Amino acid sequence: MDFRLSEEDALIQETVRDLAQEKFVKRAVEVDEKSLWPEQNLKELAELGLLGTILDEKYGGAGASTMAYSVTLEEIARACASTSVITSVTTMVGLAIQREGNEEQKEKWVPKIATGEEIGAFCLTEPGAGSDAGSLKTTATVEGDSVRINGQKLWITNAAHSGIFLVMAKENPELGSRGISAFVVEKDTPGLKINAPEKKMGLNGSHTSAVYFDDVVVPIENRIGEKGKGLSIALKSLDTGRIGIASQALGIAQAAFDAAVSYSKEREQFGKPIGEFQGVGFRLADMRMKLDAARLLTRRAAWMKDQGMRHTVESSIAKAFSTEAAFDITAGAIRTHGGMGFSKELPVERYHRDIQATLIYEGTNDIQRLVISRGL
Ligand SMILES: Cc1cc2nc3c(=O)[nH]c(=O)nc-3n(C[C@H](O)[C@H](O)[C@H](O)COP(=O)(O)OP(=O)(O)OC[C@H]3O[C@@H](n4cnc5c(N)ncnc54)[C@H](O)[C@@H]3O)c2cc1C
Repeated sequence: MDFRLSEEDALIQETVRDLAQEKFVKRAVEVDEKSLWPEQNLKELAELGLLGTILDEKYGGAGASTMAYSVTLEEIARACASTSVITSVTTMVGLAIQREGNEEQKEKWVPKIATGEEIGAFCLTEPGAGSDAGSLKTTATVEGDSVRINGQKLWITNAAHSGIFLVMAKENPELGSRGISAFVVEKDTPGLKINAPEKKMGLNGSHTSAVYFDDVVVPIENRIGEKGKGLSIALKSLDTGRIGIASQALGIAQAAFDAAVSYSKEREQFGKPIGEFQGVGFRLADMRMKLDAARLLTRRAAWMKDQGMRHTVESSIAKAFSTEAAFDITAGAIRTHGGMGFSKELPVERYHRDIQATLIYEGTNDIQRLVISRGL
């Protein structure tokens, strides 16, 4: 068993870390405070081929491992969590098309996502269908060589900036979740409407909107994968997506942990650094244990995917454990900073706001527990 990253993965990690620490950290405050879409961060990631880390070289990606993808998202999130969410969702769309699409579809859409020319949006959740995604109501009615899509999606990350929407809709409503198919809808298609971004407690640079499909007509060739396989395509995408969310959580937790350790060495009370008090030191030790355990579980899931092994349960374990560990670690960082932890002058309060969504999206942690318990 080798716990080190391969040379290639370590090189990618170093490249992203340098970029993110040098450029993204400074911008993260404004991105959060003004809810700015981090255009420049995305441009710089695209220039280094980091928006398509895991996508095939044949389609403009870097063809790197899931491990490299995981450390990429971790390093981005350590500097700017919003940028990492945008990256993980657009990659998830690219991966789904690459995995399920025919050659023509792959050549048409994957290179655009891999190079950052277009950003992808993953449209599954609806007002009445969150955890129970199979109960979605959006319809896709085949009319000759076209499909007419009607319905509403909610909480769609990247929607306001996307060129490529992967939409799960019921082609055969009478078949329930087996009647769902997946379709690509391109921006500017008549009838596609995107609401203003939601006002959220965190991840403010990652814009999330309601999307309406009002008689949206696309060619039948835009169906990705087989008819009726839409839910399975979405769930397979989430298997990898959840490794991404676990990695994001790790990055946010690492930033919070580093801040807490440095503060515990600088801040003095009762004539010595607060880190020398056992109460503070033990809290930091607990944070370190959780961080390490989360990283090991996340790397195990990434490694299993790279080996071509089934990793549904392990992705859920990594997602639930890492996000909850990160929740505790970011809260611990606030406590370690005392009053300053509550101040907007330091980024620790942002880490704790940003981490909350990771416990919810790509399946709440209750749903991860459902997946894990069903696997027993
Ligand atoms: C910032 C953000 C970005 C998002 N981005 C996207 C996106 O890009 N694309 C997309 O399609 N969706 C996206 N989502 C939606 C997200 O995936 C859903 O919010 C999530 O799946 C939960 O659905 P819900 O909000 O309807 O909650 P509900 O399903 O209504 O759940 C409410 C509560 O009930 C619990 N619960 C529900 N069912 C069960 C059960 N069987 N057992 C135990 N507990 C249960 C849940 O865990 C939760 O605590 C995003 C959400 C957020 C917050």
